[in-house]
Amino acid sequence: MIRNFDLVIIGGGILGTSISYFLSFLNKTKQIALIEQAHNVAFHTSGRNTGKVHAPYLYNPEKKKVFAKTAFHGYEMWDEYSKLKSLPFKKDGVIEVSLDEKGTKVLEKYLKWGKQNGLQDNDIKLMDKNELKKIEPEIKCESALYVYKDGSTDYSKFTNAVMNDSRNNGINFLLDTKVTNIKRVYDKWEITLNNDYSIFSNFIINAAGGEAIDIAHKIDVAETFTDVHFRGEYWKVPSEYNNLTQTSVYSVPEYPDYPFLDPHWIIRIDGSCEIGPNAVPVFSPYGYTKTENIKEFIPKMMEMLRSGARKAIFDKQFQELAINEIQSSMSKSVMINRVKRFLPKIDANKITEKGTAGIRSSVINEKGQFVPDVILEGDSMSFHILNYNSPGATGALPFSAHIVNYLNKQGMFQSENSDAQCGPWKFSSIIEKLSL
Ligand SMILES: Cc1cc2nc3c(=O)[nH]c(=O)nc-3n(C[C@H](O)[C@H](O)[C@H](O)COP(=O)(O)OP(=O)(O)OC[C@H]3O[C@@H](n4cnc5c(N)ncnc54)[C@H](O)[C@@H]3O)c2cc1C
Repeated sequence: MIRNFDLVIIGGGILGTSISYFLSFLNKTKQIALIEQAHNVAFHTSGRNTGKVHAPYLYNPEKKKVFAKTAFHGYEMWDEYSKLKSLPFKKDGVIEVSLDEKGTKVLEKYLKWGKQNGLQDNDIKLMDKNELKKIEPEIKCESALYVYKDGSTDYSKFTNAVMNDSRNNGINFLLDTKVTNIKRVYDKWEITLNNDYSIFSNFIINAAGGEAIDIAHKIDVAETFTDVHFRGEYWKVPSEYNNLTQTSVYSVPEYPDYPFLDPHWIIRIDGSCEIGPNAVPVFSPYGYTKTENIKEFIPKMMEMLRSGARKAIFDKQFQELAINEIQSSMSKSVMINRVKRFLPKIDANKITEKGTAGIRSSVINEKGQFVPDVILEGDSMSFHILNYNSPGATGALPFSAHIVNYLNKQGMFQSENSDAQCGPWKFSSIIEKLSL
């Protein structure tokens, strides 16, 4: 087995895997490995999300510039990649509804943001309730933003296809392998795997999703930040509701300052329907079960009380929101009622099966505020991608190209080539289009 690497990526979610993809085309002789603790790539958040390829209408073009730009180009890139690899991708749109006048003002803002972020007149349209009723008679609302350029997919399949391409180009994927320690030894990293043996690397990219902050802290990076984990739960809806609407339906979020939305009515790529996700505070990036949360409760609480998260957890609005979300986890009807407000036909008694929950880890700064955009921290030997949240799956390809280009430009990790054909895309043309 190879023990010395030029570069190691920690994390086989859609982000780490997409970064490996571009590196694999730009580096033909360097030794690069991706380390993933699970048996498959996309086992955690990347394979447990809503599966939407989002048009960038929800993102403030100033505060969430990177997410907005990468979502815009990510949509086109996944569309192209899905055709090339025969992967599921459907341009099925999404409807965002407002239930009162205040919500309509928010939709007007989303329309403006969408256009500022590159959407065309025929991609997005604001409608009053009567206009929407003609298309979607079951939806009850005040007004609606119809976003035609929104899509559905299965990100797990996308990530696996990207892994296969990277692997064929020479990237080593070490699956079932957990990074349990990292230590600097002179000009290299000694990376302990599965508490058992070590490998060495000149450079590390930390794309560890919900564990990215913990890994950064291990090597004294991003120490002023901490994170809070939220479990997004889903309910599967019986097939008799599959034709209730033609399109997935989101509602204007009640708490826009927090980094998640209210539960949606989701039409999955296979045509089945689900309700979700909520956002229940949990104590681990893998807090799917009670056992894991009990195990991590004390260490996580201690960490939060020592950091800026203390201010967030004592904030009255945050507490209100957390109680709301916990109630919608404990009671199925509380959760379903949040969607019933705009789809009154749904009967909670008919819904009995839970979907697959996914966990989002949101970064909090030392002032106790949620950080809205992705955080990039690095030095001559490591690079850390923190707070890579929604619509992270949509933007993963262009965002990864941007990271690889950034590392090259800064001389942090110099690829053998600065440009190459990467599957269907020329690397330089992705970077040019993004102009980040
Ligand atoms: C409920 C929910 C719904 C969402 N819906 C959408 C959507 O519809 N559209 C969209 O675009 N985005 C959506 N998102 C956001 C999107 O899923 C994420 O932004 C994206 O998946 C993040 O990818 P990642 O690779 O950074 O993280 P992850 O998928 O979490 O990958 C990180 C990987 O690192 C591995 N890892 C961590 N620590 C170690 C270690 N020590 N050793 C080895 N491996 C390690 C983990 O096992 C994991 O596989 C949603 C997110 C959530 C939570």
